[in-house]
Amino acid sequence: MRRRAPSVRARLTLWHAGVLALVICLFSAGALLVVRARFDRLFEEQISQDLATIEKVYREETGDLGELAHRMRTTLFEVVEGQTVIYRTAGWPPAGRTPYRIRTAADATHRVTVARDETPLRQTLWTLAVILATGIPCAIGLAIAGGYFLAGRVLAPVDAMAETARRITAASLSARLPVENTRDEFGRLATVFNETLARLEAAFEQLRRFTADASHELRSPLTGMRSVGEVALQRSLTAQGYREVIGSMLEDVDRLTRLVENLLLLTRADAGRIPLTRTLVDLRELVAGVVDSLRVLADEKDQRLTIDVAPRVMAECDAGVLRQGVTNLLYNAIKYTPNKGEIRVVVTPTESGGVSIEVRDTGPGIAAAHRERIFERFYRVDDARSRESGGTGLGLAIARWAVEANGGRIEVQSDEGHGSVFRIVLPRRS
Ligand code: ADP
Repeated sequence: MRRRAPSVRARLTLWHAGVLALVICLFSAGALLVVRARFDRLFEEQISQDLATIEKVYREETGDLGELAHRMRTTLFEVVEGQTVIYRTAGWPPAGRTPYRIRTAADATHRVTVARDETPLRQTLWTLAVILATGIPCAIGLAIAGGYFLAGRVLAPVDAMAETARRITAASLSARLPVENTRDEFGRLATVFNETLARLEAAFEQLRRFTADASHELRSPLTGMRSVGEVALQRSLTAQGYREVIGSMLEDVDRLTRLVENLLLLTRADAGRIPLTRTLVDLRELVAGVVDSLRVLADEKDQRLTIDVAPRVMAECDAGVLRQGVTNLLYNAIKYTPNKGEIRVVVTPTESGGVSIEVRDTGPGIAAAHRERIFERFYRVDDARSRESGGTGLGLAIARWAVEANGGRIEVQSDEGHGSVFRIVLPRRS
């Protein structure tokens, strides 16, 4: 069985306590060594001083050696001249369980030997060692307790975040993680997570709206077909009457087909499942092809449809996808421009080395409030008019995808009541 990795809190505490223990041990050992060396030197100095004092008394007042011995108490000494012992303190030679340090100073005539009791020195060092030895575990214990408490406090926001994150579902994407301090690491993490949630929420909302709109769009032609069929069934009609019913139903089927095709196209585009093959495309040819295919619609409305393309304007793009975009713009221009209106398609190189394709019309124009939104899926300025003319509300959304997939952008300029200009701008060839 695999052991579970310890929690971050436990790991932090252990690391903290381990490092602190190492530092305290090193520091204590160092302190003990330094103190011992210092005491040792002092002790040596005291012995040297003892030797000097004894030497002095011996030279000046040999008779006072006894009194000196009395004063020195813990220090034993012996003064020898040749083989003769001049003075020797009681208890000489130093022996037994008391630890003595012995030093001798000698010359040709005499020899002074001093033995100084080391017990106070050893006791002091021992006391210090005991204090350290009992203090260190206490300090480490405190460090573990304090570290565990602190790590718990520091990591508390993570628990709070995890708790909130656990409660977030697709239905409650509006919930956000608590951000206590946007400048610390956890605050930044929570902020990034919240931003991700906001994007997810927007995507979900878009999807929900799209599904609702799509269902709504699909329902109207189906309802239309059903009611036309029911009415036709209720009474017997002439052959001409049935033909009209079938014709009306086929119109609805057409609309449904267009809608489903457009929906499919957008869904595949969203999923990135439409592969683009970029080639060098002559835009004159491409635009002329689109204009030719839609000219019959313009003619039906008695509109003037002209094309103005500089020769050899090339772009690197997927011809099929771009054609779809241009078709949708021109189709809209014809659809929304009244009879006898004018539509111009102008292709020019831009200053930055790219290409612009403009579709200008003399239609009703688009109010500023709608301009931003007309590229959204199913967004229509005038619902009834768009539907009446067979619009699915997806034409501009598809046009925008087609242009952006080719690395370009699409924009609209319009004066309400004075026509519109839809412009596709393709970047310079790389
Ligand atoms: P639709 O199928 O409704 O035409 P689109 O996505 O193609 O959907 O267009 C969205 C809306 O933008 C249209 O409903 C219409 O109100 C407006 N629109 C598009 N092109 C033009 C134009 N050339 N002139 C005026 N309004 C337009």
